[in-house]
Amino acid sequence: MSDQVSERGQHAPLGLAQARIALVQWIREGGAEGREFLQVHLRQTEAGHFTVRHRDDRDRAAVELELLTDPFDAREIAQTTAEGLHRPLKTSPNLRPGWRFEALDEPGLWTVLDYLYPACVNHWHAERTGTLQPTQWEQTAGRQSGMYAPVRLLPGEVLRDAVRARCADAVCLRRVAWGFSEDDPQPISTGDAPEQNGSANERTVVPCPEACSLFISFARTVLQIERAPRKEVPGLGPLNEPELQQIRALVASTAGGTLDAPREGEFDLPLNQRRLRYLSIRLERAASEEKVDDESGERAAP
Ligand code: SF4
Repeated sequence: MSDQVSERGQHAPLGLAQARIALVQWIREGGAEGREFLQVHLRQTEAGHFTVRHRDDRDRAAVELELLTDPFDAREIAQTTAEGLHRPLKTSPNLRPGWRFEALDEPGLWTVLDYLYPACVNHWHAERTGTLQPTQWEQTAGRQSGMYAPVRLLPGEVLRDAVRARCADAVCLRRVAWGFSEDDPQPISTGDAPEQNGSANERTVVPCPEACSLFISFARTVLQIERAPRKEVPGLGPLNEPELQQIRALVASTAGGTLDAPREGEFDLPLNQRRLRYLSIRLERAASEEKVDDESGERAAP
């Protein structure tokens, strides 16, 4: 997967040294304002050192933030959310705030960034230089074995919905750069609005060159859901037992005031946020297909 140390270089052939030089230059050009990289704010001080803090803490007084002096402390920050939950995906938009690194030298800056966002500087640089080499879904899925081997059977339309559910900005800050296959390499859309150069919407693009292990695990759950037979439910479209279970669990926990998000990677649980996103996308699709059917029925009526 793209975050594994052994494979970090394969999608970005220019290598880490060039990426690091480019990042320092980019931070310098950001001047006193600094730069935002995913959820962190980076700045170079007049003394030539670097500061890193959560972007939401950018304007907070230093005394309000915990001062971290050892770059290796970034590892602990990256591991848990503000609520103390494990963060299996480092590019989930839930980096906890409340800390600051000051007076880092370049190696310290790399250590911090490498713990917070493994491989992201490398992929950011490859995107900027047009050298990114994505691995297409067909290849990634074809490499899976054991219980994950069946993900290669996901139909294209279902894969699209899985990408919208698992990879959109609301759940991952990387931007999908992989497509279906070498013959169809167009990146699969997450449904998010495209960035507009120079506009307020512009953000640092960190591409995702290959489906990650969490996506593979999610794809397996989606395949299991899709294999269960569906029956028409008036007003909701075709639904199967796992989807009805999700709706029942959602209503019950909302009514009981116990609606807590299960952990990010627990796709077996009906209230997993990514699974709920997938269900929501399916319900939306069923509603729009029903609307089209109604409209064409009305037009066809004498
Ligand atoms: S596959 Fe999706 S969830 Fe995984 S890193 Fe890429 S964009 Fe993020």
